[in-house]
Amino acid sequence: MIDMQDVYKTYSNGITAANGINVHIDAGEFLYVVGPSGAGKSTFIKMMYREVKPSKGSIIINGVNLAKLKDSKVPLLRRNIGVVFQDFKLLNTLSVYENVAFAMEVIEESPQYIKKRVLETLELVGLKHKARALPTELSGGEQQRVAIARSIVNAPKVVIADEPTGNLDPDTSWEIMNIFEEINLRGTTIVMATHNKEIVNTIKHRVIAIENGRIARDEVKGDYGYES
Ligand code: ADP
Ligand code: ADP
Repeated sequence: MIDMQDVYKTYSNGITAANGINVHIDAGEFLYVVGPSGAGKSTFIKMMYREVKPSKGSIIINGVNLAKLKDSKVPLLRRNIGVVFQDFKLLNTLSVYENVAFAMEVIEESPQYIKKRVLETLELVGLKHKARALPTELSGGEQQRVAIARSIVNAPKVVIADEPTGNLDPDTSWEIMNIFEEINLRGTTIVMATHNKEIVNTIKHRVIAIENGRIARDEVKGDYGYES
């Protein structure tokens, strides 16, 4: 499903943030990406949705090599990969419903299908009753639920999350994790960068530790492995 081979990324300032990464992720896996600040986790994650282009190597997702993908094809790729950010990145002038529907409107789904699918997705994240609210009227946890709904509304095979609980309190973080668990149980592959030691050590999944742009550790049901 996801295959990275000999992946390198050197930014224009000379910093090498990916320094020979090889990893294979099967369909349906749930993978945590951990490591110290500045180790290259975001770079690793951003290369998976072509926010960052590798300097060298191949990144194949569902048969498409992201390293060779033309910029004009990136929007098409993003339809098949859901992305969730630490700071939600919702459109604050649009309602909850519209934020989620927008992802379907750009791919020109039929209005009837959009309505059905948006409402069932909001129901899955427990926010159907907030469909008319604006993001600014919601708590951080609720905003993240909207962002998750948006990321899965087009039924992608993969959801990439970059510290999705980084701005949330512990109770809310567990609620958000339960939603990711449910999405994974329904068959979606999840790749999640996180600093949340409690969560990684409790909801056990594969753990990849990145240090100095390299994979320092890759364990089935691994531990967080750092102090905080
Ligand atoms: P690329 O090599 O992919 O073209 P750039 O080096 O042009 O990337 O950087 C992209 C943007 O990120 C630039 O605006 C750059 O100033 C900014 N940037 C530079 N250094 C850092 C850093 N250490 N962390 C995050 N962003 C940075
Ligand atoms: P992490 O997510 O583990 O904190 P990053 O991938 O953000 O690590 O950063 C890895 C290294 O690359 C750091 O030294 C960071 O400053 C640098 N870096 C990240 N983004 C950019 C950028 N756009 N331009 C230049 N340097 C960057």
